[in-house]
Amino acid sequence: MEDEKKSLNFIEQIIEDDLKSGKHKEILTRFPPEPNGYLHIGHAKSICLNFGLGIEYNGKTNLRFDDTNPVKEDVEYVDSIMEDIKWLGFEWNGEAHYASDYFDQLYEWAVDFIKKGIAYVDDQSAEAISATRGTPTRPGTDSPNRNRTVDENLDLFSRMKNGEFGDGEKVLRARTGMDSPNMHMRDPVLYRIKHAQHHRTGDTWCIYPMYDFTHGQSDYIEGITHSICTLEFENHRPLYDWFLDQIYDSTKTRPRQIEFARLNLSYTVMSKRKLLELVQKNIVTGWDDPRMPTISGLRRRGYTPESLRNFAEKIGVAKRDNVIDVSLLEFSVREDLNKSARRVLAVLDPLKVVITNYPEGQIEDIEAVNNPEDESMGKRMVPFGRELFIEREDFMEDAPKKFFRLAPGREVRLRYGYYITCNDVIKDTAGNIIELHCTYDPETKGGQSPDGRKIQGTIHWVSAEKAIDIEVRIYDRLFTDEAPDGHKDVDFKEFLNPDSLEVLSHCKAELYLKNAEKGDKFQFERKGYFCVDLDSTAEKLVFNRTVPLKDSWTKQNNVKN
Ligand code: ATP
Ligand code: MG
Repeated sequence: MEDEKKSLNFIEQIIEDDLKSGKHKEILTRFPPEPNGYLHIGHAKSICLNFGLGIEYNGKTNLRFDDTNPVKEDVEYVDSIMEDIKWLGFEWNGEAHYASDYFDQLYEWAVDFIKKGIAYVDDQSAEAISATRGTPTRPGTDSPNRNRTVDENLDLFSRMKNGEFGDGEKVLRARTGMDSPNMHMRDPVLYRIKHAQHHRTGDTWCIYPMYDFTHGQSDYIEGITHSICTLEFENHRPLYDWFLDQIYDSTKTRPRQIEFARLNLSYTVMSKRKLLELVQKNIVTGWDDPRMPTISGLRRRGYTPESLRNFAEKIGVAKRDNVIDVSLLEFSVREDLNKSARRVLAVLDPLKVVITNYPEGQIEDIEAVNNPEDESMGKRMVPFGRELFIEREDFMEDAPKKFFRLAPGREVRLRYGYYITCNDVIKDTAGNIIELHCTYDPETKGGQSPDGRKIQGTIHWVSAEKAIDIEVRIYDRLFTDEAPDGHKDVDFKEFLNPDSLEVLSHCKAELYLKNAEKGDKFQFERKGYFCVDLDSTAEKLVFNRTVPLKDSWTKQNNVKN
């Protein structure tokens, strides 16, 4: 793929054909979220696809909120969606649009439908309507109200609008036929009554158009050329086309709907309804909990916009449903942070080391490289002194031969620092190791051997005197099952991982991190990628582990020298 021109996916192919044939001079795509939750990684895929096509073909992309259900929608969601799109690096065309801006037009079209005799007011309950819909192999039955006169329908519909009926008492339905082989085409509901405050239109309306009656027409109103949506809408396409057939003016752009497979990730639930449940039941701390697959959660976890865009690019667009391994997402952020994150030294499970032959009270600066992948990121000085902390797991009292870290009588290299040899193991009365006494070789500064002697292991460390205290949050997958919502009769919450969060509150980091700010990202050498969490205070920095260094979820200790 590197040098040769990348091959077009099926959507690009359609767009290129439409531009070549002159069907469109400029393309206009859109991203149409319903503001009923925060966006997740699946939406990120759709955003990258729609905005990406806009950029690729010098066209534009609208943002439109499909806000047809006042009960579930909220401005909080509108704001978060805008923030997430901007953070991902995309700019929508002009102002944001709202389907609710089209309520007048949609109402007029509905009235036109009644006048044409292709819509009627039905008094049946939602249950009755669904019970008479039939099955894919058996036609439905006509509503007793199906043959109301135009005048009666006009009167009832305007009384619905004027608030004369309660919720659910009446609906407006299209007269498409109860025998259609497509269930969505069996006299679908166009309008329902909901006496509810809308986050934008307030109480102007007490009837609201159904999503199906809104979506395609909104695309048409905006002049969308390519209306890209996920596969579950393939069966709705004939209905959208039927609506457009009724209102289409041949001087205008008629949107073409193209379906692609939605993104599914292993070990993840991706439905807003289920994510909302996790938030409402306090199973996570909020929509932006770093374990959530939401864009805000991933951002807080330390994912970068580049890593999500690269991920979306890598998985491409498919025509068939599939499941992407969550490790591919982790790979993308690791790949990006490897280039951009500074390396620092931090010890998550500190064990004290005293260098008995190092002068008391002395602190020296040791030069360390900020990122070996990128020289332009420069170097920094790390304080070194007589007392240090090393990682507890880097010492073993009865070490096997192949243990290349610190053990009694063995020598190890301190990253950027000196060689040290362990002479004494100090224990408390209960037999726990509390301190190691070592000696250093002053000739080995910078980790160079003066006489060619071989040292296998290099461990990280921080100066005990100069280190800062930090808290580190280690995340594991939120679910223990590959497809938590793929089990019949078992609730997805049954598969929650009880160990998805581990808080390490006594970690030590090099002084350099003192001025780190919320959102800053680092590689803790040998430990993974970490970023400063929002919960950080002036007293204590809190770090989230974004990902470990290697592709494994066997918890922290997977990184070998
Ligand atoms: P959910 O099923 O998670 O509740 P939704 O489809 O109801 O999501 P919308 O707000 O309607 O959420 O989605 C906005 C856009 O994002 C739609 O065009 C939808 O097709 C797309 N989208 C939603 N989920 C995914 C996904 N998993 N992969 C790709 N695109 C998605
Ligand atoms: Mg939807």
